[in-house]
Amino acid sequence: MGKRQEREKDEGGDGKRRKVAAAAPVFTMDDLDILHCAVCCDPLRPPISQCSTGRHTICSSCQDKLPGKCCYCCETTVYSRCRGIENMIESLKVACPNNGCTARIKYYQKEEHEEVCPQAPCFCPIADCSFSGPTATLLEHFSSKDKLDSTKVSYNKGFGILISFNVNGDLPEPTILVGEDGYLFIVYMKTESLGLGIAVCCVQPHITTGSKFKCNLSLSSAETGYSQATEFHTRNTNLYDGFPDDCFLFLVPKAMLPGAGTSDTVLVSMELTPQ
Ligand SMILES: [Zn+2]
Ligand SMILES: [Zn+2]
Ligand SMILES: [Zn+2]
Ligand SMILES: [Zn+2]
Repeated sequence: MGKRQEREKDEGGDGKRRKVAAAAPVFTMDDLDILHCAVCCDPLRPPISQCSTGRHTICSSCQDKLPGKCCYCCETTVYSRCRGIENMIESLKVACPNNGCTARIKYYQKEEHEEVCPQAPCFCPIADCSFSGPTATLLEHFSSKDKLDSTKVSYNKGFGILISFNVNGDLPEPTILVGEDGYLFIVYMKTESLGLGIAVCCVQPHITTGSKFKCNLSLSSAETGYSQATEFHTRNTNLYDGFPDDCFLFLVPKAMLPGAGTSDTVLVSMELTPQ
């Protein structure tokens, strides 16, 4: 009995050739270069052409730049459409590398997907913490691991955040805000020569294409009679490099801060408005 017949018998087969089962096979590929254009090195996407030697496979925009000539063979060539490779490329899917994303993406659309993947990671900015994950997981991490307070807030409506100062003069802990639609904001402080700078960032994985918010911060002190209010746009960050250094800072002058060696809280009024 031939090997295939034996296998079919083991599987209860009736001797007819079966269609390959749909269970996902595991592929490995030693040379990913063959999935990329020989000229620009971008992933190949249809229409795909090959030079007359059949050795060089290129994308259509490179073919347009090399009329009648293969820059690798340095020969006059006639390009022909490579439908077999196009079919293979169309059916070649890869898993999204982001935890929690179940998308299977065409190889040549991998980068496009990663630019919009909702499960793309944001990073914990706390020193010595290497956690990363989608915003919902990061929020969970902030409260369970870093013990940061988080507050749910509504847009277009004022609310207050309490900034607590301790006697040691440490920087107050960041505060996490969760918008009514799930957007995550982080309010953090920086020591400035004139007082304390308060920054508000929107934490999201896609920092250039993500949503924008207007933020109003205000502070007043009945005791000293000072008051100030500022409006600015929140910066988007995935916190990859920790707390951004180049954020707009709402400066709380020293005169409005608790005196050195005292523990106290300062109430800052805030309002977020989607743009
Ligand atoms: Zn190309
Ligand atoms: Zn060639
Ligand atoms: Zn994804
Ligand atoms: Zn952390």
